[in-house]
Amino acid sequence: MNSPSMSFQQRVSHALADGQLRIALDRTTERFTSNRVAGLASLPDADAVRDCARSIRLHTLSKLDDYLEQFEANVTSVGGQVHWASDAQEANEIVLDLARSRSVKRVVKSKSMVSEETELNQALISGGLDVVESDLGEYIIQLAGETPSHIIAPAVHKTREQVGQLLADKLGVPMTDDPVEMTATARSALRDVFLQSEMGISGVNFGVASTGSLAIVTNEGNASLTVTAPRIHVAMMGIERIVPTLDDLAVMLLVLARSATGQKLTVYTDLLTGPRRGDPDGPEELHVVLLDNGRSRLIGTEVSEVLACIRCGACLNACPVYQQIGGHAYGSVYSGPIGAVLTPSLDREGPWHVLPEASSLCGACREVCPVRIDIPRMLLALRAETVHSGKGNRWVRVGFWLYRIAATKPWLFRCGVSVVRQLTKMFFVNGWLLRLPSPLPSWTRSREFPVIASRTFSEEMRDREKGSGDE
Ligand code: SF4
Repeated sequence: MNSPSMSFQQRVSHALADGQLRIALDRTTERFTSNRVAGLASLPDADAVRDCARSIRLHTLSKLDDYLEQFEANVTSVGGQVHWASDAQEANEIVLDLARSRSVKRVVKSKSMVSEETELNQALISGGLDVVESDLGEYIIQLAGETPSHIIAPAVHKTREQVGQLLADKLGVPMTDDPVEMTATARSALRDVFLQSEMGISGVNFGVASTGSLAIVTNEGNASLTVTAPRIHVAMMGIERIVPTLDDLAVMLLVLARSATGQKLTVYTDLLTGPRRGDPDGPEELHVVLLDNGRSRLIGTEVSEVLACIRCGACLNACPVYQQIGGHAYGSVYSGPIGAVLTPSLDREGPWHVLPEASSLCGACREVCPVRIDIPRMLLALRAETVHSGKGNRWVRVGFWLYRIAATKPWLFRCGVSVVRQLTKMFFVNGWLLRLPSPLPSWTRSREFPVIASRTFSEEMRDREKGSGDE
């Protein structure tokens, strides 16, 4: 599904033809969406909290360099080390060097979208390391040799029946589609991995500038074990994931889980401040890899607001396009409405200019976003950029070029309307065209096209004016 050789249209066709995917997406996106509504209803004055969360994120981005320096100073003051990575390759090399120089053989990971972005697993495995994902969804897709299809639910594209079969095939356990039994199977397979790994790698939901703390939220407790069991911990974090203070973090946590799964809080919220310092557990070494990878370039641009995202996934669940095609069709790590902005913005050279088209601009993403990111506005800005750069669809370009000629010459426009009206009359059924001629048949594949009205608006108005003049 993620093959780089497939075009976006091919991946979409593939997804639409997948009946199992439709079942899996329906089950999950509907549940997440209704849970979110209930979750926010449990928060007094949720709109005000969302406004507050938005202003914290935008304020942080407006002074990001200051907060990053403060964060680095505080991580260092509590015994951690900060590593700056300008791109994915540098980030992976930093982690690989840390592992090699400390004779690490086995790595356990908790969920990290930044590490998916840098393709860290592939880099570590090529470097001879054994890497195991401990988030249940990530573990499932690692067994399946796939990539995540949702920001917070990586295996959302799989039905529980498919997961049961996968576990049976890969782990030799009896087939079951009972989620409790499947979780117990994964749990027992992973327990030894935590104990045997020398290095743990996690993502970071928020880094707190005033204390140098790392906030990591999970529902399975796997981040707690990833952080505390191995002797070295590496946290992968995008540079934008900073909040100024612990009070600001508290506001973010009020809306994060509610928007993601409808929970008031995730089951586990880990706050890691430095490595162990006389504590009975915790890592001996703490490293934070701060990844730029195109983010700093976005500040001050039309799409800078995308950096305010707190990766709750609500916009994916609400998006009518994502609900149909799932995450893999986007072809990138970040999918759905936020991915359609983030991916082409971060990777200017990649084949992503088509992603902003994957939206009906209905505004559902903006409606549900806990920090009120105006995704439709940015999608339009990216579409405009694509048109100006000449990368847009050739047929659309030709169509608008013809329309401009006709629309600026009234006599030509009238002639054109009359010719098209006569043509459509030849093919309509009950006032609708069932199939448009090439190159437009895709439009009528899933809906009908109305026949052009027998009289245009201008003709009607002219007749009316004539009639009232005669009176
Ligand atoms: S854009 Fe908003 S809704 Fe979408 S993942 Fe980010 S924070 Fe959540």
